[in-house]
Amino acid sequence: MIRLDKVVKRYGSFEAVKGIDLEIRPGELFGLLGPNGAGKTTTMRMIAGILAPTSGKIEIGGIDVIRRPVLAKATLGFIPDRPFVYDKLTGAEFLRFTAALYGQDGDELEHRIDDLLGLFELSRWKNELTESYSHGMRQKLIIASALVHRPKVIVVDEPMVGLDPKAARLLKDIFRRFVEKGGTVLMSTHTLEIVEDMCDRVGIIRQGELVACGTVDDLRRSASDANAGLEDLFLRLTGGHVQHDLDAVLG
Ligand code: ADP
Ligand code: MG
Repeated sequence: MIRLDKVVKRYGSFEAVKGIDLEIRPGELFGLLGPNGAGKTTTMRMIAGILAPTSGKIEIGGIDVIRRPVLAKATLGFIPDRPFVYDKLTGAEFLRFTAALYGQDGDELEHRIDDLLGLFELSRWKNELTESYSHGMRQKLIIASALVHRPKVIVVDEPMVGLDPKAARLLKDIFRRFVEKGGTVLMSTHTLEIVEDMCDRVGIIRQGELVACGTVDDLRRSASDANAGLEDLFLRLTGGHVQHDLDAVLG
């Protein structure tokens, strides 16, 4: 459903994404795991058609994101890492505005907006300006807006940051159900726990390269070969495994 073929992104002379090949299937919740600066956001923004790759090819459901951007975007819901909502719109107005970008309006849309606001427990704030929303409420509204046009693919950048446990659980349930129904989710995170808890497969990205890809069990098997846990493997693969002299600092 999502296919990347030798995708490269350069910012000036700096190569942030170094030729990533990746295929994510329908019905799959795929986690892109890596430390800060690894290239997760850059990769996801290219898939969402917000950033053009320097070279390579990206397809969503067989549709070329660069050549047919409008068609590709119609099947995609993108949830960015820094949620942006218009302060002077109410929750319902924001969802109507987003839906209008996809050419949707009318009674059916109004029902859908009510359903989505209900799901995210925002019904009481339907007609309140989003400037009065908390960070978590805004994030839930953004997620609702990414679902309003019934996308087949969700691309979501570090969704769990800033959510309370209840909202995080809801999001997990939504994504799991979405893939059970044949959808595709690509989610980035820098937290191993989230991947272990939710994802069917994981790609570990380090300095713009995909250094490992497989099920969590695959990764765990290769970790146990080295007599190490998954966390050690993750740290080794992402280059975060540094021996600190804690005693010198804390002693
Ligand atoms: P991640 O989401 O994994 O933390 P990013 O994709 O945001 O990583 O960044 C990957 C690398 O590209 C980092 O080294 C970052 O500093 C660099 N980078 C990201 N955006 C830009 C930009 N607009 N201009 C220059 N460098 C950038
Ligand atoms: Mg990022």
